[in-house]
Amino acid sequence: MTELIKYTAAETATAIAKGEVSAVEVAQAHLDRIDAVDKKVNAFLHVDREGALAAARAVDDKRAAGAELGPLAGVPLALKDVFTTRGMPTTCGSKMLEGWIPPYDATLTKRLKDADVVILGKTNMDEFAMGSSTENSAYGPTGNPWDLTRIPGGSGGGSAAALAAFEAPLAIGTDTGGSIRQPGAVTGTVGVKPTYGSVSRYGLVAFSSSLDQGGPCARTVLDTALLHRAIAGHDPLDSTSIDAPVPDVVAAARMRDVRGMRIGVVKEFAGEGYQAGVMQRFEESVELLRELGAEVVEVSCPSFTLALPAYYLIAPSEASSNLARFDAMRYGLRVGDDGTRSAEQVTALTREAGFGSEVKRRIILGTYALSSGYYDAYYGSAQKVRTLISRDFDAAFAGVDVLVSPTTPTTAFPIGERADDPMAMYLADLCTIPSNLAGNAAMSLPCGLAPEDNLPVGLQIIAPAMADDRLYRVGGAVEAALNDKWGHALLEEAPAL
Ligand code: GLN
Repeated sequence: MTELIKYTAAETATAIAKGEVSAVEVAQAHLDRIDAVDKKVNAFLHVDREGALAAARAVDDKRAAGAELGPLAGVPLALKDVFTTRGMPTTCGSKMLEGWIPPYDATLTKRLKDADVVILGKTNMDEFAMGSSTENSAYGPTGNPWDLTRIPGGSGGGSAAALAAFEAPLAIGTDTGGSIRQPGAVTGTVGVKPTYGSVSRYGLVAFSSSLDQGGPCARTVLDTALLHRAIAGHDPLDSTSIDAPVPDVVAAARMRDVRGMRIGVVKEFAGEGYQAGVMQRFEESVELLRELGAEVVEVSCPSFTLALPAYYLIAPSEASSNLARFDAMRYGLRVGDDGTRSAEQVTALTREAGFGSEVKRRIILGTYALSSGYYDAYYGSAQKVRTLISRDFDAAFAGVDVLVSPTTPTTAFPIGERADDPMAMYLADLCTIPSNLAGNAAMSLPCGLAPEDNLPVGLQIIAPAMADDRLYRVGGAVEAALNDKWGHALLEEAPAL
């Protein structure tokens, strides 16, 4: 029975559809795994045992009644605690929302339920998705299943750790500056930031609305594609949602052929600050792509070096505005409401008590950057840099089909190492942020272990907006070739918990 947790999502769905195993057995195996390991990992903030078993039972009933099952029917999933779930707590990793039970489902949640995916519960994250290590959660850090004393990345560390610990074969993350891809890289799992606007943000608690993008996470490229297909597509409830067909990511994941593709290596993503073993595995991946028949060229994107400072003006500016809604009147926590204080005083006391220090730092930064007299110098300049970055991408994609780089400059660092050094923490997203600023699509997939610390390294693939299928075509080919070379999937090497 424990072997069920090792199945891919595709294998699980097939086994359920054929009647080789019931959806209830699959759900129970994952709930047992969570019971066995999650005290150590802390990937989940909330486990919905009854809800998961009921959803699984409904799939088994459907099958028994002869109804056709969807491609992910009965497959368990770990949902980042930033999407609203009707009747299930949604905290965003913050004390501010402790005990808040949303009255509605996010569109993404609804699509998962419509696809008969079994939602196991909600995963840990940096508070309001601000961070790169999950240490900013108000509910304690998550451990990296490869080494529990190290970070699983962030902000979606809970979702990535749940995959790597075999607590779920599928997970959902959100990526504002790298929070799907960087956790994927440091846990040896796959994560995709779809094109901005291609997965609905309705019911996704906003951090930085012009950057936030929900997306799929899994242990294989094909599973990630199956989940991508289930959640993407136009939503009239999200005004930034793109009304265009989603490219066929599943067919692309199955192609396993990169012959004739042109691949650009981003020159700027190398040098000081990049760990030797990360660069070694990255360069081997580039060589592998050549061997597989792709044409590889070097590409320069000079404005990418300005992406990090631009992001840390734009994201906090939007956050300072979005987080104004936590005013003690509408949701969650309320402090000091004893009849002696004004509404303003209660708001101030609640925000003081409810927000952690990183969230406060961003609100202060953003409020400053947007204030009159500074707006043009800071926010205005950052928006101009954003345009320059988009132009660099346009120029690059005129000559190549995809770009590649390491996902992160280093492997997973020890918990606590960067906690008091925000600048060091922000550097984790050096390579991922340009795609958020430009709105295009990007994937991270495992490309080996760094020889110096035996920890996973991520390969990043970047595609133009609405060409998400190219990520899967390249990712699927790399994954297949690497698994052939190693004789197994990377996670099979993960030290046992
Ligand atoms: N680490 C980045 C930040 O702290 C990105 C976070 C994210 O993508 N949600 O803002």
